[in-house]
Amino acid sequence: MHFQQKIDQLFTEQQRDWKQLRSSIKQFDQIKVKEFNWGNELKVDVQFNPSRIESLSAKVDKSSIEERPCFLCEKNRPTVQSGIPFLDKYIILLNPFPILRNHLTIALHSHVPQRIRRKTGDMLTLAELLPEYIIFYNGPKCGASAPDHFHLQAGLKSPILMAGENELRSCLVIESTSKQEVEERFEDVYQYLQSRQPDEEEPLFNLITFVENNRYLLHIFPRKAHRPRQFYEEGKRQLLISPGAIDMAGLIITAREEDFNKIRKEEIEDIYSQVSMTII
Ligand SMILES: [Zn+2]
Repeated sequence: MHFQQKIDQLFTEQQRDWKQLRSSIKQFDQIKVKEFNWGNELKVDVQFNPSRIESLSAKVDKSSIEERPCFLCEKNRPTVQSGIPFLDKYIILLNPFPILRNHLTIALHSHVPQRIRRKTGDMLTLAELLPEYIIFYNGPKCGASAPDHFHLQAGLKSPILMAGENELRSCLVIESTSKQEVEERFEDVYQYLQSRQPDEEEPLFNLITFVENNRYLLHIFPRKAHRPRQFYEEGKRQLLISPGAIDMAGLIITAREEDFNKIRKEEIEDIYSQVSMTII
């Protein structure tokens, strides 16, 4: 059976057996999205997704992480949640709080910190197996709500998720027919970004990879901040937005209706300028 068909089958079985997943997918079908345009095909979508409140406001400091049971470790996962093995070291799970259609979480079996170096090959292999999907990675300070357990995510392709560089934020694009070449060029970028942020355990970035016309594409979104100023404001000035790869690509996730209603173009521009790092 083709790998994508196995995933489709997992969706069928899990929606049959797992009530929470069934209702979250149903809710996702009715989700509200607002579109903002800057002309010249430059656009950003804002999604209102109340199920993301915990993930968006997750405390990811060391002590909060150590105190909570890790939701990606097998012993803590719901018993009804099943998955598909990938490369003998990962399990592909269905995300019960989807922000994309067919939202997948790909968790490493072992509980090791979120670090992507030397694992981009795994991302590219998965992108090859799932040609209708994008595969994405959020760094430990760039949107990952489990920075202590290595994981990737995936969802069905859409044009906004595959948008490269634009005027709102930077995106470095690596494209090649050779997986090895993409990995080598990523390593060069990694070393450069590390030299810009020598005090970080991993330079701040988000990654999106996919295969299109038999070519591997890797989009790197370098970051200079975890969350924008508005995240920490109080009352009316607060905007609970904690950008990950999907937000950086151009689909901003809000979990509170007030944020969805009040966000304007100026704030979108301001948020990107605070979290995106310019590469000259
Ligand atoms: Zn874990």
